[in-house]
Amino acid sequence: MKVGFIGLGNMGAPMAANLVKAGHDVTGYDVHAPMPEGVVGAISAAGAVKGAEVVITMLPNGAILRDVAAELIPAMEKGAVLCDCSTVDVASARAVAEQAAAAGLMALDAPVSGGVGGAAAGTLTFMAGGPEAAFETVKPLFDVMGRKAVHCGGAGAGQAAKICNNMILGVTMIATCEAFALADKLGLDRQKMFDVVSTSSGQSWSMNTYCPAPGVGPQSPADNDYKPGFAAELMLKDLRLSQEAAEGADADTPMGALAALLYERFVEDEGGRGLDFSAMLPRLEKRGRG
Ligand code: NAD
Repeated sequence: MKVGFIGLGNMGAPMAANLVKAGHDVTGYDVHAPMPEGVVGAISAAGAVKGAEVVITMLPNGAILRDVAAELIPAMEKGAVLCDCSTVDVASARAVAEQAAAAGLMALDAPVSGGVGGAAAGTLTFMAGGPEAAFETVKPLFDVMGRKAVHCGGAGAGQAAKICNNMILGVTMIATCEAFALADKLGLDRQKMFDVVSTSSGQSWSMNTYCPAPGVGPQSPADNDYKPGFAAELMLKDLRLSQEAAEGADADTPMGALAALLYERFVEDEGGRGLDFSAMLPRLEKRGRG
């Protein structure tokens, strides 16, 4: 397939490289990042999408997506699909989808789960919102870049799924970390804590797959001095998006709100920026109740 790829950073570069390896014809554009091997560089975003059947964007946030989409949409071929894989606010995803439809294009919001490791290994999960026909067009590319693609519904449904998932993740990571910190103070060995909880009703992805305690459970960023992995500031971004969406939809999300507040303090005031989001454990273990 002929693919345009805009935003070749930590995630976009390995995703585009996997498309090239699978034999797709990829033209890319990024304001800073170099082109991965096999991706033909264009001098502008509009230049990268000429003749493309699918255009993928992997950008930092909704404001940048809106700007880039405004440039891309007039340059895209009628009937082509604009597939945004960034994590952005639901309102931006829906606004871009409306502009694309008005120009005779199809749009998908298709954020990912699986991080930089999943992008490199081609094992991402895609959660997509938009027309069924657009999903079917992009599905062969999702199958190259990932292991699973779920069509979640209409425009914005992919972003909705992403922020709901990551709200659960933020909350369960904090709960797992505070339970380890409490267990320490009660004199419970961390390995015993893992052995019990990972096979009991307190189990979760945060405990079983991404254990925040060093030397316990499978290999995780905790075993690498909390080098990300999934950085605390990216978790904060997603928790803020979930709170923004909850306010817009009048949904009561008290645990999500508290998780957003804790990650905000951690990232902005307590040295958490640049650390993995599981570094909430060393933050909590140092503290008392005061
Ligand atoms: P990144 O900052 O490494 O990459 C973003 C790229 O976009 C950069 O190379 C930047 O130069 C480029 N860019 C910015 N403005 C541009 C413009 N106007 N035109 C063209 N290129 C532009 O970020 P990332 O880690 O690759 O994340 C990308 C998206 O994926 C984000 O929305 C993030 O929330 C989401 N995401 C990241 C992870 C992760 O673990 N890194 C996991 C899941 C989802």
